[in-house]
Amino acid sequence: MVVLNPDFARAMQERLGAEWPAFVEAMAQPAPVSIRINPFKYRSTPEHDGQVPWCAQGYYLAKRPAFILDPLWHAGAYYVQEASSMAIAEAVRQWVGTDRPLRVLDLAAAPGGKSTLMVALLSADSLLVANEPIRSRYDILRQNLVRWGLPNVLSANHDPQDFAPLAGWFDVVLVDAPCSGEGLWRKDAQAMLEWSLQQVNFCAARQRRILAYAIDLLAPGGTLLYSTCTYNDTENSTNARWLRDAFDLEPLPLRWPAKWGIVEQDLGYQFYPHRVRGEGFYLSCFRKKIASSHVTARVHSVLRSKNRPASFGRFQRVASAGLPALSRWVQRPEKVHLWQDRHEILYAVPQSVAADAETVLAALPRAAPMLEIGQVLKGDLLPAHSLALSVLRAGQVPYLNLDIVQATRYLRKEDPQVAGAPKGWFLACYEDYALGWAKGLGGRVNNYLPKGWRVMNTGHS
Ligand code: SAM
Repeated sequence: MVVLNPDFARAMQERLGAEWPAFVEAMAQPAPVSIRINPFKYRSTPEHDGQVPWCAQGYYLAKRPAFILDPLWHAGAYYVQEASSMAIAEAVRQWVGTDRPLRVLDLAAAPGGKSTLMVALLSADSLLVANEPIRSRYDILRQNLVRWGLPNVLSANHDPQDFAPLAGWFDVVLVDAPCSGEGLWRKDAQAMLEWSLQQVNFCAARQRRILAYAIDLLAPGGTLLYSTCTYNDTENSTNARWLRDAFDLEPLPLRWPAKWGIVEQDLGYQFYPHRVRGEGFYLSCFRKKIASSHVTARVHSVLRSKNRPASFGRFQRVASAGLPALSRWVQRPEKVHLWQDRHEILYAVPQSVAADAETVLAALPRAAPMLEIGQVLKGDLLPAHSLALSVLRAGQVPYLNLDIVQATRYLRKEDPQVAGAPKGWFLACYEDYALGWAKGLGGRVNNYLPKGWRVMNTGHS
């Protein structure tokens, strides 16, 4: 039997009425385990215990494996994500439509669950900007997006107010807001101890600040997705009503089959653990009216000009001519757009999103393309880890499949101890899933997994 905070229990009992005992019972059960596969990498269907109804790529697992031991997780073949929060996929399906190029902003993105979900839904000529203001969390976001391997993504490490030069520019803005986290207490008991009514009010006010910036960034007709992993009305319904009343936003209803168990609540939708196989989650969806007094479409004039500069923030545009033969490393290099930073590290996005990416890089000093190609050294390329995990990596690079023991050694940044490794650069793989770069030196293998990616304890010797 869980002991719930009395203020929380009182409010929930009042709200749930006859359903309260079922809620309390669900809170005593372990949280379901679910993953979302990467449709650009995962080659089969995972062994599963049911599909997540509202997300085609979401699967429940019968038990929680040690994900840290699984090379496929390290390869970005799937993401471990709580099932309710995958409902963003259904909202996008119902109201956004992803068969056209879109500019999408995830304003509060770390650790990257919704960003990885979102970019997998978008067309290849759409651009996702995944932003996280807190530095340590930003690094985790980048790691997860690098693992995911899709190239039409920029990351940013900014407060929402820094996005002002991009006002009126985005087709979709997702605010998966920092919240009081009531819906995650089964996974994080400490969060319940930190909960208080003051904290709820603090979170609600912070959410309104983030949302006000988000609305300014939306283009006319653009879609705002607002979500939290909490139950209380202060952060959810009250903020949703404030959005409707204070701004030119039209609420967008979502339609779910009744058997999914999702509860309509005022202007949004609530996921409860006794009704769905997932954690507590709230989602509401709005469209910015075309004739909105809050529409400002005022992308900074420098960013709009035809004579754009060749440098964007800390990145300088470069031509592929004169660079080490990129076709050895990158699929169809003529289709990528390149920049380098002052350390001559090359970054790329697909040509189809290059102009939009430069607009973002020029506006935000701490934005960066997700796909780092590598560093040019003495006329040769030192390939970056993100290239190893990217879906744009050339198909013909030499590779070697490691067994589970060798793959584990590789992920611990040890010599994987393989006989017959190719000489020179090769991809270390497990079951054909790329884990990272290695270099064969005759008798031994140098492991190029970045230091910060090293797995500390994997159980296998
Ligand atoms: N969307 C993420 C996912 O699905 O993996 C989870 C986001 S989490 C609920 C909220 C995030 O907002 C946290 O990473 C937090 O650091 C970040 N955050 C905190 N203050 C913020 C602010 N003022 N503006 C934007 N994001 C903020």
